[in-house]
Amino acid sequence: MSNNFQELAVSLAAIAKGFHGRGWLLGTSGNLSAVVQREPLRLAMSPSGIDKGELTPDQLLSIDENARIVSDHAGKPSDESLLHIRIVKQRGAGAVLHTHSIWNTIFSDLYASEGGVKIEGYEMLKGLEGVRTHEHSEWLPIIDNSQDMPALAELVDQTLKENPAAHGFLLRRHGLYSWGDTLAQAKRHIEILEFLLETMGRTSLIRRTM
Ligand SMILES: [Zn+2]
Repeated sequence: MSNNFQELAVSLAAIAKGFHGRGWLLGTSGNLSAVVQREPLRLAMSPSGIDKGELTPDQLLSIDENARIVSDHAGKPSDESLLHIRIVKQRGAGAVLHTHSIWNTIFSDLYASEGGVKIEGYEMLKGLEGVRTHEHSEWLPIIDNSQDMPALAELVDQTLKENPAAHGFLLRRHGLYSWGDTLAQAKRHIEILEFLLETMGRTSLIRRTM
């Protein structure tokens, strides 16, 4: 296994532990990946069914562009690997992270009929790559959830094409996806989007009781 893979595996396990501690990856949910090389495509991918708070670097799998394991592992890559691969190809991302937080799950349902969530006016938006002002308006598209991964990957592809400026998207009653040129940037994007969704959710709750 390449040095690059080992380094990414260590970082992915550390991010998984951190996200798990914040309640964003409970009950083996969520998944994480990073590009090891592009030609041919190799991703370091989290395995299916593993507690992300306990994930160790040696459990990360190396997969190809068809989500087949190319490393010497008995494990099974995440069911959602095809979505990661699609995002990597469509956006040229270096890493893709997916969380199942309470707030992103609530928003993915509350705004489903509108097709997405508009986030604007917050200073924290500047943590999203390319955003320079709090006056930015971020549109977080919502895609209907499905267990048919090839079909869902097609929908993801279409949504990314229709929303070239989006830094992430929600799967309805399921979770948040974000990505970045690097793993550090993808982690930052998840932290920013989770912060903003939680802030909007708590704000509307407080408004109702005032
Ligand atoms: Zn998921």
